[in-house]
Amino acid sequence: MITLDPTTWEFAAKMDNFSGWVRKQIAKEMSKSAKPKEFNFESYCDHCSLWYAHTSEYDAKFHTCEYCQRLCSYMLSEVTE
Ligand SMILES: [Zn+2]
Repeated sequence: MITLDPTTWEFAAKMDNFSGWVRKQIAKEMSKSAKPKEFNFESYCDHCSLWYAHTSEYDAKFHTCEYCQRLCSYMLSEVTE
Protein backbone atom coordinates (compact mmCIF):
# COMPACT_ATOMS: atom_id res chain seq x y z
CA MET A 1 0.00 0.00 0.00
CA ILE A 2 2.78 2.44 0.84
CA THR A 3 5.70 2.88 -1.51
CA LEU A 4 8.97 3.95 0.04
CA ASP A 5 12.33 4.55 -1.51
CA PRO A 6 15.40 2.86 0.03
CA THR A 7 16.20 5.85 2.25
CA THR A 8 12.74 6.29 3.69
CA TRP A 9 12.31 2.54 3.97
CA GLU A 10 15.43 2.31 6.09
CA PHE A 11 14.16 5.08 8.32
CA ALA A 12 10.67 3.66 8.54
CA ALA A 13 12.04 0.24 9.46
CA LYS A 14 13.70 1.79 12.53
CA MET A 15 10.52 3.42 13.72
CA ASP A 16 8.78 1.60 16.52
CA ASN A 17 5.31 1.85 15.16
CA PHE A 18 5.49 2.97 11.58
CA SER A 19 2.06 1.64 10.60
CA GLY A 20 0.45 3.24 13.61
CA TRP A 21 2.19 6.51 12.87
CA VAL A 22 1.02 6.46 9.26
CA ARG A 23 -2.53 5.70 10.36
CA LYS A 24 -2.40 8.60 12.80
CA GLN A 25 -1.13 11.02 10.15
CA ILE A 26 -3.83 9.94 7.71
CA ALA A 27 -6.52 10.25 10.37
CA LYS A 28 -5.26 13.76 11.07
CA GLU A 29 -5.54 14.69 7.39
CA MET A 30 -8.97 13.14 7.20
CA SER A 31 -10.29 15.13 10.11
CA LYS A 32 -8.87 18.27 8.49
CA SER A 33 -10.60 17.69 5.19
CA ALA A 34 -13.81 16.62 6.90
CA LYS A 35 -14.07 20.02 8.51
CA PRO A 36 -17.22 21.53 7.10
CA LYS A 37 -16.86 24.62 4.96
CA GLU A 38 -18.62 27.67 6.18
CA PHE A 39 -21.68 28.39 4.14
CA ASN A 40 -22.19 31.95 5.21
CA PHE A 41 -23.85 33.23 2.06
CA GLU A 42 -27.26 32.43 0.73
CA SER A 43 -29.18 32.80 -2.46
CA TYR A 44 -32.82 32.19 -3.13
CA CYS A 45 -34.75 31.13 -6.20
CA ASP A 46 -38.08 32.96 -6.26
CA HIS A 47 -39.34 30.66 -8.95
CA CYS A 48 -38.72 27.38 -7.11
CA SER A 49 -38.74 28.74 -3.56
CA LEU A 50 -35.38 27.16 -2.97
CA TRP A 51 -32.55 28.28 -0.78
CA TYR A 52 -28.93 27.68 -1.61
CA ALA A 53 -25.99 28.05 0.72
CA HIS A 54 -22.62 29.25 -0.50
CA THR A 55 -19.13 29.64 0.83
CA SER A 56 -18.45 32.94 -0.89
CA GLU A 57 -20.34 36.13 -1.67
CA TYR A 58 -19.52 35.77 -5.35
CA ASP A 59 -21.10 32.31 -5.54
CA ALA A 60 -24.22 33.56 -3.82
CA LYS A 61 -24.57 36.57 -6.12
CA PHE A 62 -24.12 34.71 -9.36
CA HIS A 63 -25.79 31.44 -8.60
CA THR A 64 -28.19 29.94 -11.09
CA CYS A 65 -30.91 27.70 -9.79
CA GLU A 66 -30.19 24.00 -10.29
CA TYR A 67 -33.77 23.34 -11.31
CA CYS A 68 -34.92 26.26 -13.44
CA GLN A 69 -31.50 27.70 -14.40
CA ARG A 70 -32.62 31.21 -13.45
CA LEU A 71 -30.33 33.56 -11.61
CA CYS A 72 -31.09 33.35 -7.91
CA SER A 73 -31.51 36.38 -5.67
CA TYR A 74 -28.62 37.10 -3.40
CA MET A 75 -29.79 37.12 0.17
CA LEU A 76 -28.02 39.18 2.72
CA SER A 77 -28.06 37.15 5.87
CA GLU A 78 -26.49 37.79 9.16
CA VAL A 79 -24.79 34.60 10.14
CA THR A 80 -23.86 34.41 13.75
CA GLU A 81 -21.03 32.16 14.70
ZN1 LIG B 1 -35.33 27.80 -9.62
